[in-house]
Amino acid sequence: VSSEDPAVALAVSPHPDDELLGAGATLMALRDRDVRVVNLACSLGRPEDRERRRAELTEACRRASFELLVLEQPPPIGSTGDPVAAQPVLARMIGSAAATVGAGVVVGPSPHDGHPGHELVGRALRDAVEASGRELEVIWWGLWGELPLANRCVYFGERRLAELQRALAAHAGELARNRFDRLLAGRAAAAAVLGPERVGGFGSAACGEPYAELVMSTRWVPAARRWELDGGAGAGAAVGWWLHEPSARVRLAGA
Ligand SMILES: [Zn+2]
Repeated sequence: VSSEDPAVALAVSPHPDDELLGAGATLMALRDRDVRVVNLACSLGRPEDRERRRAELTEACRRASFELLVLEQPPPIGSTGDPVAAQPVLARMIGSAAATVGAGVVVGPSPHDGHPGHELVGRALRDAVEASGRELEVIWWGLWGELPLANRCVYFGERRLAELQRALAAHAGELARNRFDRLLAGRAAAAAVLGPERVGGFGSAACGEPYAELVMSTRWVPAARRWELDGGAGAGAAVGWWLHEPSARVRLAGA
C-alpha cells in the first residue's frame, strides 16, 4: 500500500454486475496495490431472481478477490419502489457500511447515470458521505449516462480485460439477457481513445494500452462542506453543484 492509498475501498453497487461494469478496472487496480476492496450490494434484483443473482455475485466477487457485503433489507431501488422514501434509508445503510469497514475511498454510480436505480444509489452515496463527518475520496462512474468530466483514466491491457471478463462471466443469467461482455470490452476500447483527450487535454498523445476506464475522482471536505475535484486539470474545483443538480431523468420524468 503506497502512502497515497487507503487501506479499504468500498464499492457501492446498485445491482450484481455493477461491481465490474461500473469501475471494475479501478477496483482491481486498487486491489493489486493491496487495498481491501469490499463490494456493497444494494440490491439483488427482482424477488424471483434474488437467489440466482446472489449466487452469481458471490462467485463473481470470489473471482475478482473482492469481499462482499449484501444489504439484507434494502429499500427497493427498482421501478416499483419509492425513490424519495428510499434515499435516506439507503444513505444510512451506505454510511453504516462505510464506517464499519473503515472505507478510505468509496466508488459508486454518478447521480446522473441515467438508470433510476443507479441515480438513487448515487444520491444516497452523496448524502451518506456528507453525513459522515469524515474527509473521503469518492470515485464516481458512469455506465448508462456519461460523466460530465472525467479526471482519471485507468489504462489496462489484455490480461486485465480477461480477468474482468472471467469475473463478469459469473453473472451468467444477466449475460444471457444482454451481451454485457461486449459492453465491457467495447466501452474499455472506447475509453482508451477518449481518455487521453478527456483527461490529458484535447490534443494529448495516445496511451499505448488498448483499454481504459474513465472515472471522476472527488473529495468531500467536511470542514468546508465542499466537494472538490481530486486530481486532473481542474483539481480543487467545486463540484457539489453537479452532485446536487437534479438529473435529466429526474427533471424530465419526475423519477
Ligand atoms: Zn446496475
